[in-house]
Amino acid sequence: MLTIKRVPTVVSNYQEDASENTQYQTETLIGCGRHCLGKCCFPASKLPLYAFNNDEVEQLEPAEKIALISSIEEPSVSFLSHLLLGQWEDRMSRGLFQYDVTTCETKVIPGTYSFIAQLNEGRHLKKRPTEFRVDQVLQPFDENKFNFTKVGQEEVLFRFEPSNSSTSHFYPSVPVNVDSTSPSVVAINVSPIEYGHVLLIPCVLDCLPQRIDPGSCLLALHLAKEAADPFFRVGYNSLGAFATINHLHFQAYYLSVPFPVEKAPTQRIITGKGLRDGAVVVSQLLNYPVRGLVFEGGNTMRDLCDAIANSCICLQNRNIPFNVLISDCGKRIFLFPQCYAEQQALGEVSQELLDTQVNPAVWEISGHMVLKRRKDYDDASEDYAWRLLSKVSLPEDRFQELKIYISEAVCLQEVGSSEYSSLNLEKDLRNSLASQVVSHLPNDCLVLP
Ligand SMILES: [Zn+2]
Repeated sequence: MLTIKRVPTVVSNYQEDASENTQYQTETLIGCGRHCLGKCCFPASKLPLYAFNNDEVEQLEPAEKIALISSIEEPSVSFLSHLLLGQWEDRMSRGLFQYDVTTCETKVIPGTYSFIAQLNEGRHLKKRPTEFRVDQVLQPFDENKFNFTKVGQEEVLFRFEPSNSSTSHFYPSVPVNVDSTSPSVVAINVSPIEYGHVLLIPCVLDCLPQRIDPGSCLLALHLAKEAADPFFRVGYNSLGAFATINHLHFQAYYLSVPFPVEKAPTQRIITGKGLRDGAVVVSQLLNYPVRGLVFEGGNTMRDLCDAIANSCICLQNRNIPFNVLISDCGKRIFLFPQCYAEQQALGEVSQELLDTQVNPAVWEISGHMVLKRRKDYDDASEDYAWRLLSKVSLPEDRFQELKIYISEAVCLQEVGSSEYSSLNLEKDLRNSLASQVVSHLPNDCLVLP
């Protein structure tokens, strides 16, 4: 078993000892008395609900019509961003965060790539490091470990679920009905690394382990689409790739500069079969320290989602840790297989890199380096970022092998290989292949009309 020691990040105030939580308890004794997201309290609660438009036809159009809006002060900001940031600032004014992230210093590191460095001393807790198993991407949910059902409802901003009409709606207060689908929620990360840092927790009551499936992937893409802000990115870390909580969740925040990875050149390696317009296209990153794939296109968000979800499922089944960055309002998705924790566990990472205690998760890989020590921040250079990220990357031979798995997983064909001559044959093949792909929404929260 490969393990590494690291200090866990506190994403919820309920993650620490129960004795420290008294200040967050509510006066009303419903359920367990902690007003939590568990089955004891949550079903009897009311929360704001953002019901998003999941009409396939309009999938790739920007989010626009919102019903039941009371007021929007800045028309350029989407309703969802307005809601999210308003609620996030409310939680900040209520003192729910571990530190004030808006006072953290940030700079662009000089060089070709414009890596971004942040000094975040608040994240550096004086806690003892915990041992994490890093050689198993899929692990069963363990209800005895911290999970999001233990979070207090004051950390939740709103529910985020599909609407049953072709517009998005906002309902300020809706009872949580346990008989319907398990609620998906957007909650604060109490150790934010940027403004508006939140967690998206799909079907929280279902207690799903950290594992991508098509339904959760689609939900995350919808969040990016509804935010309708290119500076809002959604990220995912698998187990073994610096996720610390084995309860299905994505993260997201606003950073108002491009991430270095978003500017990296790419080369198309796989494209959708045949002559169909709007096929999903998979490219590989060039001249970037971490080898990665970029997914774009597709006639609908569902097409794009299937290609990504199937690729992630392939990595999960092959036990390859990975990170995902959802960028450009859900239209461009980066997939990074990684091996840093494995290298660390095998003693292959230099002490100098280990001393900075940077955990290269999705944000660091994308070029936003969160540093915990003043010295590292002052000395941060492109060379340092490059050396760290090079240790994250799969070596070339393993990456080449992985590209073959991915092209199989998404049922696409490699550019340059022979095209099918008959469109009908191609269509038939597509249909037969489609049935072999992971079926849609096996047991998730998305009920489509
Ligand atoms: Zn409870």
